[in-house]
Amino acid sequence: MAYDPTNIFAKILKGEMPCHKVYEDETALVMMDIFPQAKGHTLIIPKAASRNLLDADPAALSAVIPLVQRVANAVKTVTNADGIRLAQFNEAPAGQTVFHLHFHVIPAYEGQALGAHASGRGDDAELATLAAEVAAKL
Ligand code: AMP
Repeated sequence: MAYDPTNIFAKILKGEMPCHKVYEDETALVMMDIFPQAKGHTLIIPKAASRNLLDADPAALSAVIPLVQRVANAVKTVTNADGIRLAQFNEAPAGQTVFHLHFHVIPAYEGQALGAHASGRGDDAELATLAAEVAAKL
């Protein structure tokens, strides 16, 4: 399927929609997921247009993975999580809901079940605080 440039992450990348931004450079944007599956759920979004991993430019993938690692470590430090899940979904049957490539960094806490995917809306004040704290650790 073709990339749809009207998807919500494309709008956020263009600055047409707000986000709880953690970090941005010429290749990627990092922001808090507003429907967090766990406290500290963060998204890394390469700027290069692709629906998902399957149609991504390998060069864009090579550029983004070190940033995913940095974000995972920063999120783990800030949240004091016991582990980090890395998730990335390709097409709707696999769970993808926004069709612009992104990587989920989801903290795991001992004894806590993972929340549902893209369900409860996070608190904006808490998301803003987390964004600033993760940014400070990057
Ligand atoms: P996926 O299902 O892998 O496509 O993930 C899309 C993710 O984007 C979900 O976890 C949603 O909670 C999240 N999401 C949707 N809209 C927004 C938004 N405006 N800002 C931040 N996260 C969003």
